[in-house]
Amino acid sequence: MRISSYLSGQWQDNGDLAAKVYCALDGSEMGEVAACSADMGQAMEYARSEGGSALRKLSYAERGQLLRSIAKTLEANKEHYADLSYRNNGATEMDTFLDVEGGIGTVKYYASLAKGLGERHWLTDGAAEQVTKDENFRAVHLMTPLRGVAVHINAFNFPGWGMLEKVAVALLSGVPMLIKPATSTLPVAYAMVKDIVDAEILPPGAISLVAGGGRDILDHITGQDAVAFTGSAETAAALASHPRMISENVRFNAEADSINSSILGPDLDAESNGFKSFIHEVSREMTIKAGQKCTAIRRIFVPRSQLEAAQSALIAKLAKAKAGDPKREGVTLGPLVSAAQKTAAIEGSTRLAGECELVFEGDSGSIDGEAGGYYFTPKLMLCANPAEASLVHETEVFGPVATLLPYDDDAQLFDLVRRGGGSLVSSVFSNDDGFAISAVTELASSHGRLLIVDDSIARSHSGHGNVMPMCNHGGPGRAGGGQELGGLRGLAFYHVRTAVQTNAARASTLLGEEL
Ligand code: NAP
Repeated sequence: MRISSYLSGQWQDNGDLAAKVYCALDGSEMGEVAACSADMGQAMEYARSEGGSALRKLSYAERGQLLRSIAKTLEANKEHYADLSYRNNGATEMDTFLDVEGGIGTVKYYASLAKGLGERHWLTDGAAEQVTKDENFRAVHLMTPLRGVAVHINAFNFPGWGMLEKVAVALLSGVPMLIKPATSTLPVAYAMVKDIVDAEILPPGAISLVAGGGRDILDHITGQDAVAFTGSAETAAALASHPRMISENVRFNAEADSINSSILGPDLDAESNGFKSFIHEVSREMTIKAGQKCTAIRRIFVPRSQLEAAQSALIAKLAKAKAGDPKREGVTLGPLVSAAQKTAAIEGSTRLAGECELVFEGDSGSIDGEAGGYYFTPKLMLCANPAEASLVHETEVFGPVATLLPYDDDAQLFDLVRRGGGSLVSSVFSNDDGFAISAVTELASSHGRLLIVDDSIARSHSGHGNVMPMCNHGGPGRAGGGQELGGLRGLAFYHVRTAVQTNAARASTLLGEEL
């Protein structure tokens, strides 16, 4: 396949080669990324002037209809994405489900929210305020869409969902999108954008794709644009400190590295149902997408009295994970997505091993796949003295690698969890209400999401790592300081809040309700 950029309403290919993409299953070449000579500044201006003005003419309900059409088009082509995901990402059926169906589901969810917003062209925030003694003088807060372009710079690990979760919110907001997927996993993102363009769902300029490169995007950024980034903390810092990002005061949302945790409560022992739910969730999170999930569990906290039991139960589960080509019989764990990711996972595990003991490693001799694939078997580490350790609280190995950490009491536990420096998610398994509420009050300020599981929801919860569109996704500090999704909350990033002070009749019209 030859992948090209879509800018200024045209597919761009100047005949040169920008990059290559590879098959994760055997390292063979899978496609080429065409170089592009289009002017990025002009492309972004085209998106603002053509795409932005056309989208703002539509109501939220009408833009919801566009989302519905996108979901329908993607549904019709999902077998194609599944094949690309299998080859380029080494995805199992479940991995593809999370990326492709998860992405389409998020688009559908935002389409359904649009119905509630109706035929309006702005959102309101709160009730009318009386500002002076004159009851006829009121203030209302309006949220109107930005007049710039939504720049979406995405990570390699969710080429489908990672793109669509941003598209759903920006498009419903009425802001055109310039999408820059990670180069190594372009195939799924490219195929989806191509299908959306070919189906002629969106007005010209509403969607643009940067395939490869994109290093000059921020040179053309303005204060009416917004940049939503997912990727490493290092890149986030480089982008946020771009001179134009600073001089133009550009909105920037970052979803970065996160040393997420899962906690076995002090009330649960090895015989309890809660213990079994915890072990099930941790082992699942370590192996789904071969651990290449920003929300995956990296630190596993257990009461010191349960350490041995938790270690043996986890090892028994991980030993059943079979690495290899996901289409082969019995394989449950695909490869990492690229040679670079495999190198990074080896380096990260080696760094962790400097401080932790390796207590389990999957048998690399039993990998059922072609030589040359980017296979990496699960590793379980033990950090016996987490209060004295530092690397385990700072190192995210983006693969099927996690560390067990015993704790001695609640206060020590919460302190250790917070040493992650701000995380996307922590899950807490406990039937003790007092402990569960303490976990919320002690950990909420350092987490974007907390999953508190007791026996009553052990079978019905949505999972530690699954990002549900109605819930906030993001986290403070190391996790990037961003916030995405969360239902209608996510739209705020693409809107400007303005206080309009006027007479009561006009305030009532703007608010859409009688005062
Ligand atoms: P990365 O190397 O930081 O790259 C992320 C994206 O930024 C890619 O599209 C990359 O493009 C682009 N990029 C890099 N430098 C750029 C520049 N100067 N200008 C414009 N774009 C630039 O991260 P990654 O390796 O793809 O992702 C792995 C990391 O993402 C992990 O650490 C993980 O924790 C994090 N992550 C976080 C979340 C979350 O929701 N919080 C989700 C997934 C992943 P190229 O591919 O072309 O280099």
